[in-house]
Amino acid sequence: MSPQVGGVQRQWALKSVEETDWVVPFKVFTQRDLEKIEQIARLPAAMRFEMRVVSSVLPFRVNKYVIDELIDWSNIPADPIFQLTFPQRGMLAPEHFERMAALMRSGADKAEIERVAHQIRHELNPHPADQMEMNMPRDADGRRLEGMQHKYRETVLFFPSQGQTCHSYCTFCFRWAQFVGDKELRIAASEASELHDYLRHHTEVTDLLFTGGDPMVMKTKHLQAYLEPLLHPDFDHIQTIRIGTKALTFWPYRFHAAADSDELIRLLERMVKGGKHVAIMAHYNHWKELDTEAARSAIRRIRATGAVIRAQGPLIRHINDDPAVWAKMWQMQVKLGIVPYYMFVERDTGARNYFEVPLERAWQIYREAMQRVSGLARTARGPSMSASPGKVEVQGVTEIAGEKVFALRFIQGRNPDWVQRPFYAKYDPEATWLDDLRPAFGEEQFFFEDEYADLREQKLALAAATDD
Ligand SMILES: *Cc1c(COP(=O)(O)O)cnc(C)c1O
Repeated sequence: MSPQVGGVQRQWALKSVEETDWVVPFKVFTQRDLEKIEQIARLPAAMRFEMRVVSSVLPFRVNKYVIDELIDWSNIPADPIFQLTFPQRGMLAPEHFERMAALMRSGADKAEIERVAHQIRHELNPHPADQMEMNMPRDADGRRLEGMQHKYRETVLFFPSQGQTCHSYCTFCFRWAQFVGDKELRIAASEASELHDYLRHHTEVTDLLFTGGDPMVMKTKHLQAYLEPLLHPDFDHIQTIRIGTKALTFWPYRFHAAADSDELIRLLERMVKGGKHVAIMAHYNHWKELDTEAARSAIRRIRATGAVIRAQGPLIRHINDDPAVWAKMWQMQVKLGIVPYYMFVERDTGARNYFEVPLERAWQIYREAMQRVSGLARTARGPSMSASPGKVEVQGVTEIAGEKVFALRFIQGRNPDWVQRPFYAKYDPEATWLDDLRPAFGEEQFFFEDEYADLREQKLALAAATDD
């Protein structure tokens, strides 16, 4: 039930768990309600205007748990969770900011603001790494399966249509284009039967990854319709079910205080008992996200089902570009029974200019954080770029035969044969993404480039031949 109260959506979570009594309304604020947030209303008018300008272009959504329990309002604007969820002036390029600000000052109408917002969004590389063309699988008749991506042999990504929003939005989200209402920018979803048909015929797939948005915004009964059929022997090749989520940060009550929390927990238990490895791929950026009673209680409850929680997230300027933050986060995760998995490089999309960290600095932060933790917290690989050819890890800066270079490797590749081959790029202190790097030792191109270009051409030719 989500009654509208003063333009603000409420969902009531009324359930007592463990020793704590929680009566918690899920109350969410979007661009329209920015000024209704008490803590925001107290900020200077100029800052509030900047936030309105930025949130007319980039998605904004935050809930009361994040506002009241995760953000330290005595430390604005530096607080990392404030930076994680609230729009900041620097998130738009100065020319985009000025254009939108002038429009809003002139009292332009909604349609005009939306038209300009739409133009700006298209200049922000809304679909990085060729996701639309390169990763969408096809059925036996060559038709595109819209709600899936199949890039690496073992793992299929599924975008359930009911899970394409989040309990709050991250300012740096690489899937931001899904949330701004431009229909043609959205990665649409398909239905359970389409997913199950595809998996039945692709026995090379061992992992299914539910992603979004956030699949944990779905009602348990929807999640169940996707998951439970996978216990049938037809799907014995599916060993692992991963569920990507930020709910442990943004709405931990999902796991212990929503009307269908108990059902969700029982569903996870049945999947585990049925022989699947269930991995909750939790998105974490800062140790503060782990530091509330509601979050810890949710972690305990998930772990008691036999599911494993693995942690991943990008390295982001203004939020976690500090080895001490990563070391503390990884240590807390291990203590809570969470396995550190990936440290990503901020992607080349959206507000990347505000968030990006040079690759050399990213590697230094990773290295310094690793040095401070025990082996159990060193399971996080990175810094890793999810680029179109594959996931490329920066292993470090070194010198070979008198040339300063980046040592790199594929953690994942469109061709599995690329995985774990070391390769080298010319040192560049400003590089922030794979595209900025050139091969070392005077070579013309990286070892994978010809093959990647061929793969790309094949995909595009197939698309041209089968789509109208
Ligand atoms: C990261 C990723 C996966 C999963 O890769 P693992 O290394 O197995 O975690 C699958 N598909 C896509 C498109 C990815 O980016």
